[in-house]
Amino acid sequence: MSSSSPILGKAAQVVIIGGGVSGALIAARLAEHGFHVITLEKAAIGNGSSGRSAAGIRTQWGTPDSVAGMLYSEWFYTHFHDLLHSAPDDQTWVIRQNGYLFLYEHPELSLPPWQLGRRRAATQAWQAAQAYVAMQRKLGVSVEVLEPREVQRHWPHILAERLIGATWGPYDGFLNHDLIYSRGFARAQALGAELRQHVEVTGARTHGGRILSLDTTAGSVEGDWFINATGAWAPRVSRSIGGMELAIAPVKRFLYSLKPARPIMSAEAWSAMPMTMYGVGPERGAYSRPDGEILMTGWAHEALSEPDFTDDEQDAIPPEFHHQYGLENYGYAILAEIERFAPDLANCGGLHATTCGYYEMTPDSNPLIGADANIENLVHAAGFSGHGLMHAPITAAVVEAIITGEVKDGLMRLPPPCAERHISLDTFDPSRDFSQSHREMLVF
Ligand SMILES: Cc1cc2nc3c(=O)[nH]c(=O)nc-3n(C[C@H](O)[C@H](O)[C@H](O)COP(=O)(O)OP(=O)(O)OC[C@H]3O[C@@H](n4cnc5c(N)ncnc54)[C@H](O)[C@@H]3O)c2cc1C
Repeated sequence: MSSSSPILGKAAQVVIIGGGVSGALIAARLAEHGFHVITLEKAAIGNGSSGRSAAGIRTQWGTPDSVAGMLYSEWFYTHFHDLLHSAPDDQTWVIRQNGYLFLYEHPELSLPPWQLGRRRAATQAWQAAQAYVAMQRKLGVSVEVLEPREVQRHWPHILAERLIGATWGPYDGFLNHDLIYSRGFARAQALGAELRQHVEVTGARTHGGRILSLDTTAGSVEGDWFINATGAWAPRVSRSIGGMELAIAPVKRFLYSLKPARPIMSAEAWSAMPMTMYGVGPERGAYSRPDGEILMTGWAHEALSEPDFTDDEQDAIPPEFHHQYGLENYGYAILAEIERFAPDLANCGGLHATTCGYYEMTPDSNPLIGADANIENLVHAAGFSGHGLMHAPITAAVVEAIITGEVKDGLMRLPPPCAERHISLDTFDPSRDFSQSHREMLVF
């Protein structure tokens, strides 16, 4: 590092831009480390995707560094209240480990002979699943391969005859997103960090390849390090403060709530249903999970990037995506997809709510966590491609390692209790060459 390197250690001031889960857990972690932390949020915390998420968490990934990172994230969330020092009488649930079930359709039994391409894709998806499971197990993940009959035995509403098999992560599940960012910031503030809401970053004063201070709607804010944790806004924010172009495309994603009109299983079985992916591969990947008495469903449709979206557009629902738009809307297309695998579930009620928000997609669907190419004291933590909630604990650990200089030859040792593992930060480097980088395939 040059002599003008940012100050390391307890005296340093770190300015985080963005009040979502990433900003919150980075703030808590850095405050715990002894940094003086200031977070700037242009609206109220949770203004972005963090308050709009399906909140799934899984260790079943196709990228080894994400698998290892997610083992740490799952450990973090299962110890959340201890780690964030929640009061004993104030420990609302943060993670429900209902498991994550990937259903793989049978190429011949599930698809007609004239859908040759689909059959081929289903065969390839199942072959890839075997390789992923082998890699995940090697990294220490508890993941099982289930036969169709076993799937139906555990979850009788799923048709065995549709399946060639399934992969099952019993410790995966879903998270309480609002709790994560509110508690993350509360912990950071208890350690002396500042949270300034309704303060928008508009520019920066730079010198010699470093940011000296940020321009905001409430005056300038100086710091030694600056963290861009602004999710789908991250490319705009980076540009406005002299940082690199970030390969992030904001794309709209919708969630639907199905309200059961009649019970199709016991209340216990309903609330224990896993996050379920109905088929894997091109044009597959509709999913559902219980949300109290409701079934939450979603899917990833082909969508254009909206680089200049406004805050209000986060909640804008075009008619063809609104559940009240007859049966010709995307919500019912999702139910039709679920119906192929679980007809009783798909038909047990009607849709009663549509919500939405932005995914921040990168070309290889892996996040951008790392140093800026132009500005020495700027670190990006964005581009989570629809998975930033589960990434947030490991993201915070990566940011900490970068600014404390603990990254050696591009490798970072995971924090305890996962300290026997390293991850390569090249996988997440914002400057990586996307034509060569590892593409994550298990993205929905
Ligand atoms: C429908 C949907 C389903 C999802 N499902 C999952 C899932 O199952 N699992 C999962 O892990 N993830 C999921 N995600 C993704 C996850 O929600 C996001 O990746 C995550 O919330 C990103 O958090 P963040 O803190 O990085 O960004 P955000 O929560 O988007 O926060 C960024 C913040 O930056 C602020 N900001 C922007 N510009 C400025 C500025 N100039 N100055 C100051 N502040 C600024 C914004 O107001 C915002 O509050 C889903 C997302 C959606 C939309």
